[in-house]
Amino acid sequence: MSINIIPTIDLLYDGQVPLIPAYAPAPNGQISDTHGRLLGDLRISVTDRCNFRCTYCMPKEVFGKGYQYLPQSELLSFDEITRMARLFVAHGVKKVRLTGGEPLLRKNLEVLVEMLASLKTPDDKPLDIALTTNATLLPKKVKALKAAGLNRITVSLDSLDEVTFRAMNDVNFPVADVLKGIDAAQSAGFTPIKINMVVKKGVNDQDVVAMARHFKGSGHIVRFIEFMDVGSSNGWRMKDVVSSAEIVRMVNADMPLVEAQSNYSGEVAQRWTYADGSGEIGVISSVTQAFCSTCTRARLSTDGKLYTCLFTPSGHDLRVLMRSGKSDTQITRAIGLIWNQREDRYSALRTEKTTSNKKVEMSYIGG
Ligand code: SAM
Ligand code: SF4
Ligand code: SF4
Repeated sequence: MSINIIPTIDLLYDGQVPLIPAYAPAPNGQISDTHGRLLGDLRISVTDRCNFRCTYCMPKEVFGKGYQYLPQSELLSFDEITRMARLFVAHGVKKVRLTGGEPLLRKNLEVLVEMLASLKTPDDKPLDIALTTNATLLPKKVKALKAAGLNRITVSLDSLDEVTFRAMNDVNFPVADVLKGIDAAQSAGFTPIKINMVVKKGVNDQDVVAMARHFKGSGHIVRFIEFMDVGSSNGWRMKDVVSSAEIVRMVNADMPLVEAQSNYSGEVAQRWTYADGSGEIGVISSVTQAFCSTCTRARLSTDGKLYTCLFTPSGHDLRVLMRSGKSDTQITRAIGLIWNQREDRYSALRTEKTTSNKKVEMSYIGG
């Protein structure tokens, strides 16, 4: 694989200090960007560390022994994360997803879940709190997470084939232990569980049908994700992408599928149900059919920078506002202005050329 050199830590975690306008850009809360997209979801990266080295996300050649992770003092505390979430909720956020890195590596994550679960939307509804995880620590943590108020779990699993999976996570982690994590989550009452499989040509595309077949009828929903050019270190090439259309064709040839309606506007995955009624799969076409026009997602990095797109080079440093004593009103206004000015639609504009733009690493801002 060809690996680009990634920038030093200062450039990698580049951020701008947000402006605080003298007025409230969204006096009534809900705020839309320059393309009329409302702010609806917040993804929070709780750690930039991971116990896997997935070759498409944190390749060992880059995230090796000498890699500088953020020091503890740079991480947002649980109080700071909860404060940020509360301000985003006032702007219309209804869903929060905890991610990373591997979010379960963050100590006492259930305490954060409990703090987030105490927040209410302006119409007095509870927040929808989800987690994306590689499942390695689920058997140990899932009951506490459920008790704390976690609503939904997505597990990443790229192959059921032992050799392929161990090569993709690159730490020799066995398939059986991820399946145990999924079972533990099911026993704790999480259902349906979503299973994310990133598909890379020549690496695991031969395992697509087996993955669909394994979870057919289980109540879980497999979602096949097109390999993306996130970050600057995964050696992405267009020819390594397996399109969603091809994935649907492969599964449909073996187990007939019927296209289904989205559950809600802006749903990332296109849904396909099995013709025999035994469940559904999803395909996430981030490369071949961009869904920027309905993208309502904001991302908060491990060290408190707001990213308005997965593919932006730098974030807006909300932590500096918090740690310099700015009030809720001031930070709310700053967030409102950033979203108001948002123009991002990287995937809709993607070309072979844009893939070499400087972009932040996914493990730092969360998938
Ligand atoms: N460590 C957790 C996990 O793997 O579930 C959460 C963080 S991970 C960055 C979030 C999601 O991003 C995972 O489902 C992962 O497969 C996906 N992902 C990472 N790099 C990707 C890439 N280059 N293209 C598509 N999806 C990617
Ligand atoms: Fe870790 Fe998730 Fe990235 Fe894999 S995809 S390296 S599990 S953060
Ligand atoms: Fe949203 Fe950016 Fe992805 Fe488009 S490219 S869907 S704007 S995160």
